[in-house]
Parts: sequence; structure tokens; C-alpha cells
Amino acid sequence: MKTVHVIGGGLAGCEAAWQLAERGVPVKLFEMRPHQSTGAHRTHHLAEVVCSNSFKSTLTETASGLLKSELAVLGCKLLTVASDSRVPAAHALAVDRDIFGHMVSQAIETHPKIQVERHRQDDLNLPLPAIIATGPLTATTLSEALREHCTGEHLYFYDAIAPSVDADTLAADCGYRASRYGKGDADYLNIPLDRTQYLRLIEGIRCAETVKPHSFEKQKYFEACLPIEEIVARGEDTLRFGPLKPRGLPDPRTGREPYAVIQLRQESRKGNLLGLVGFQTRMTYPAQKQVLRSIPGFENVSVLRFGSIHRNIFLDIPALCEPYQRDRALPGLFYAGQICGVEGYVECIASGLIAALAIHADLAGRAMSALPDDTMIGSLENYIHTPNKDFQPMNANMGILPVTGPRGGNRRARHLQSAKRALAAISEYRQQNTWLFSSITAIV
Ligand SMILES: Cc1cc2nc3c(=O)[nH]c(=O)nc-3n(C[C@H](O)[C@H](O)[C@H](O)COP(=O)(O)OP(=O)(O)OC[C@H]3O[C@@H](n4cnc5c(N)ncnc54)[C@H](O)[C@@H]3O)c2cc1C
Repeated sequence: MKTVHVIGGGLAGCEAAWQLAERGVPVKLFEMRPHQSTGAHRTHHLAEVVCSNSFKSTLTETASGLLKSELAVLGCKLLTVASDSRVPAAHALAVDRDIFGHMVSQAIETHPKIQVERHRQDDLNLPLPAIIATGPLTATTLSEALREHCTGEHLYFYDAIAPSVDADTLAADCGYRASRYGKGDADYLNIPLDRTQYLRLIEGIRCAETVKPHSFEKQKYFEACLPIEEIVARGEDTLRFGPLKPRGLPDPRTGREPYAVIQLRQESRKGNLLGLVGFQTRMTYPAQKQVLRSIPGFENVSVLRFGSIHRNIFLDIPALCEPYQRDRALPGLFYAGQICGVEGYVECIASGLIAALAIHADLAGRAMSALPDDTMIGSLENYIHTPNKDFQPMNANMGILPVTGPRGGNRRARHLQSAKRALAAISEYRQQNTWLFSSITAIV
């Protein structure tokens, strides 16, 4: 039995390795940390969650909730660990990062079919089959090798981390607990701002010093994850219609929705670490401290993790690959994770699972049938393989599902209908392809 080489022990690489190993396929997993870090990772854990601790909604009528439900049908491994390391976050699946990383590392490192090597891969001279899942912060040498292999331009953009603060250093009465529109438990701490406080905050952000990109790097942000200063630069109200929107968050002390609201989400089980939702930033550390301390109740705040900005690379997958992220020029080579043009933790996990299924099918000498079009996972897969001269990473969203009925009417009801159809389709897929979910020895 051939050994599959997986490069990168992040979310996608771990899901892929674990899926293959569970099917009896030997795997060698290469991870460069702790010898070399990426700038965003902080620990030696495999599958480290680098920024927000949220895997987003669990409601099936939402795009991310639907993707998670489909992944559960397909037997996703990392989402099970996410559930086991869950912290309260209303209807969102949020994890304690350390517990999650620790549990995945333990499962992978002790798996009898997986050998983990803490070693950096610098080129594409790999025994095949192999999966490259080195993420948006792929080490430079491998990144250069990929650029050469693509015989073209790497695409890249910037993404930013939001700061996290020590809950014990906030004023006791600075906010109120609630979740938007009362959905789920009141797990978020909400800091209300009146107009004067809001204007003071955005003025502070406007004047704050930011970390400048290198001169050779063109700034190209991912629209769904803009740094807060970029949002502020677009207009006075943009922030309070974006991450600081007060809709559905009335202050119980006044009964009214405030002018703007800063939301904080619990990031550790102990509840001491709180992340500022949507507050990704490229402000310098001293500027962040100053801006955060201008928020009412944050006068003595201790910042446990500062926001930061990073280069993110991804490949032009529609040009480079066949379905399932299989390299056209090197057909035994697959890509998974954000490098293959999906964006978001759960999407990266999904792409790792897909790459594992495709390799399993190859090893079994059988053709893998296409994932159903009307599922979220199938739609993501279709998106990254549709020719597109402005290819940009995509996260799960209802807009990529095929349109089936008339538009209009109740949006939630339409989404629920789409979700029902998608779940039926993915369950049928699993039933019709049982071999794809069985041990390799049972097939060959
Ligand atoms: C700064 C930042 C913040 C983000 N914030 C969020 C967020 O809040 N929510 C969200 O949903 N998504 C976020 N993302 C996007 C994305 O979901 C995550 O980056 C996700 O972890 C990507 O998963 P992955 O498996 O592709 O890569 P990673 O999880 O990054 O894993 C790649 C692994 O490969 C290793 N590696 C790199 N190069 C080599 C090499 N040459 N040899 C061996 N090992 C190597 C790395 O050390 C790493 O462990 C963020 C991305 C960045 C960069």
C-alpha cells in the first residue's frame, strides 16, 4: 500500500491525514512547526486555530451551518473534536483553541497509520500521492517552488487577526450579555456605544498608526475579512453597519438598540479570554492598546493577543487543477486548505476531506462520483474549479448554491428548503458510495 504524504499539519492537512488513516491508508504528515513558525501560529499543536475561535453558525439554514451538517454526514473528524472542545457561543460552534489543538494533535500523533515528521518541505519533489496543505502562510521556499510550478503569478491578499483581551480587566458594568435577536444563549458580551463614543472610537482608528505592507506587495484584501481601519476609511457609518451593528441587540438597561455595539466572544473555557468580533486590524501594537483603552469600560484593559496582518497565498486552482484539486501536470498531487481557494476554517477542513476521498478513490482504482451540485460542499468544489480570471478564495455562502425555485418570499424559509435538499442529497451520496467510506483493504 502506497504511503500518502501530507504536507502541512493544519486544519486541512489533519482532516485529510485522519480520513485516509481511518481507511487504512498509511500517511506521513510533515509539519514545520515548532522548528519554524508562520507568524500567526503560536503553539506546536497540529490544526492550530490561528485567529477567531469560532467555526461559525450551527444553524442549517445558514451557509456555514449547512456545510457543517454535510460534513457530519461525510464523517468529518475535526468537527467532532470541535464539538468536544466547544465553549458557549449561542448558536455558533466556538472552541477553546488550546483544547482543540491538543485533542487533534493527540489523535493524529497516536494514530497507528500516521507518522508525523516535524520537518519543513521546500520543494515539490514528493513521492506521490501527496497533498499540499501548507495554508495561507506557506513557508517562503515552498511558496517559491509553487510559484515556479504554476509558471505564473501567485495570487495573494491580506488577512488580519482581531485582538483578544483579558475579561478580568474590563469594568464590571461595561456591557450586557446577549446574542443577536436573542438566538441561542446570551453568550456575547456587548459594549454599547452612543454617537459621541462611536465617533471618538472611529477617529482614534483613523488616526492610528498601522503596519505598512512591504513595497513589493500590492494590498489586496479579502472583502469578507477587512481590517477595521479599512472599513473606517470607507465612511463614518460603515463600521456601525458592519461589525459594530447594533441590530437585534437592545440594551436591557434602556430597552433600546444602542448607536453601535462592540461584541466580544468567549475564546477559552475558563471565560477569561474574550475576542473582539470583527475587529481584525493592522494597527501597530501601541496604537491598538490606545484605541482599545478609549472604549468605555476598557480603560484598564489588558490585551492578551494583539491583532495583526499577514500575507495569505492561494493558488489559481481553476487554471492549475482538475476536480478535487488534482494538479493537471502532476496528477498524484493534490491541494487542500486555504491554498486551494477556499476561505474559512470549516471550508479548509472540507477541502481536506475531499482531497482524502479523491486519493482513496485513486488507491482503490475506482472513479469518485461528483459531489452533488445542490450541496454546499459540492458548490464550493464547483466554485474553485470554474474558470475565473479574477479568482478569489470563497467561503460557504447561500449565493453559491444553485438557484432552484423563484426568488423572493421568505428568505429563511427558502434557505431551510435549500438546506433540506442539500442534506438529502449528501446522505444519498454517502449511501450510494459506501466503498468511498470503507477501509481500503475491503475494496482492493
Ligand atoms: C492571520 C489569519 C487569520 C485568519 N482568521 C480566520 C478566522 O478568524 N476565521 C476563519 O474561518 N478563517 C480564518 N483564516 C483563514 C483560514 O481559515 C485559516 O488560515 C486556516 O487555518 C487555514 O487552514 P489550512 O489548513 O489551509 O492552513 P493552516 O491551518 O495554516 O495549516 C498549514 C500548516 O502548514 C504548515 N506549513 C507551512 N509551510 C510548510 C512547509 N513548507 N512545510 C511543512 N509545513 C508547513 C504550517 O505551519 C501550518 O501548520 C485566517 C487566516 C490567517 C492567515
